[in-house]
Amino acid sequence: MMNYNVEEIRERFPILQRKIDGKPLIYLDNTATSETPRSVVDAIVSGYCDTKANVHRGVHTLSQEATELQEECRRRVRDYIGASSEEEVIFTRGTTEGINLVASSFGSLFPHDGEIILTVMEHHANIVPWQLLQSRRPDLKIRVVDIDDKGELLLDQYRDLFNEHTCMASFCHVSNVLGTVNPVKEMIDYAHSKGVPVLIDGAQAVPHMRVDVGELDCDFYAFSSHKMYGPTGIGVLFGKKEHLLRMPPYQGGGEMIAHVSFEGTTFADLPFKFEAGTPDFVGIGSLPKALDFINEIGMEKIAAHEHELLEYAEAQMREIPGMRIFGIAPHKSAVISFLVGDIHHYDMGMLLDKLGVEVRTGHHCAQPLMHRLGISGTVRASFAAYNTREEVDAFIAALKRVIPILS
Ligand code: PMP
Repeated sequence: MMNYNVEEIRERFPILQRKIDGKPLIYLDNTATSETPRSVVDAIVSGYCDTKANVHRGVHTLSQEATELQEECRRRVRDYIGASSEEEVIFTRGTTEGINLVASSFGSLFPHDGEIILTVMEHHANIVPWQLLQSRRPDLKIRVVDIDDKGELLLDQYRDLFNEHTCMASFCHVSNVLGTVNPVKEMIDYAHSKGVPVLIDGAQAVPHMRVDVGELDCDFYAFSSHKMYGPTGIGVLFGKKEHLLRMPPYQGGGEMIAHVSFEGTTFADLPFKFEAGTPDFVGIGSLPKALDFINEIGMEKIAAHEHELLEYAEAQMREIPGMRIFGIAPHKSAVISFLVGDIHHYDMGMLLDKLGVEVRTGHHCAQPLMHRLGISGTVRASFAAYNTREEVDAFIAALKRVIPILS
């Protein structure tokens, strides 16, 4: 592609030099987690070697520097996702914790007999937290939107599920199995026309497209840093201030209080009310380097590059006899879930690994979707900024080698 120097990008990722069984690593498991550029790793090292002190507690220099790194990251994230204030940017452990926070805290405010709309393509992280809420609040109901044969949501059904009890809609921006990019703006606008707030699970969107929570006008948006070239163990929950102000704290402890006594405790202002305990401030301090990486290349260019790889790979895969690709929505992210004949996904993954090709196998934390598709799992290949056409060629060649062995 013009203007896209993938070799230069690859040089920034130390792990891409690795060999697997003596073969060059072909990392196609980016949906599970992306690899990390040296700049992020260097920032983590510096966080430990140069500035490590607990945040928000000290008057001393180190604590102030560490705090500034963390709060600078909050401002960077605010701008990156188009939040209107850093009070709306809560650091979490990841998408999972963000959704649990909303289900537990915002969910505690749901009216009696409330109904929550989810979709059949949700990751377990956007199903189980709502079920946990339901186990405490048996009056609540979960309603589920189905998909069509292409892996697109049935939007008529989505609209039909709304009624006077609907109190929440929560769905993924991009499916981690099908790759479907959902029409979230349209879905949010519809929910709002019924007075229903919306949470978006953005785990698979933020790493692959520009997301502006202000434009989307979503009420909550959760994502993970480790899938977007950042450190593991941290994530972000965006929440509209009007909701966050009303919501009770999710966890109690240090950092989230204004004053504590045995007679009663008052809570800190936003966003700290939702950040109990010591955060992974070293990780948070390194996240801006991941944003720099994306910005230097340009998200639009990364997305175009990934899309080109997707089309290039799918065209060749469709030629393979017995190939079934799950998720063929016209608007699709660079994720290919597939099965060939009756070969078990696990066997396929094991043999591909022997050839240096790292793909994911299994249910991808989406068992209801697997059930809907009538399968137990798939093989899944997914692309990121640093993957190449040559890697796609090697992946296809590897597929052609292992299929006859397993058939
Ligand atoms: N939602 C989706 C769509 C995902 O793909 C993932 C990660 N596979 C998650 C939620 C959970 O993310 P994390 O494990 O980083 O909390």
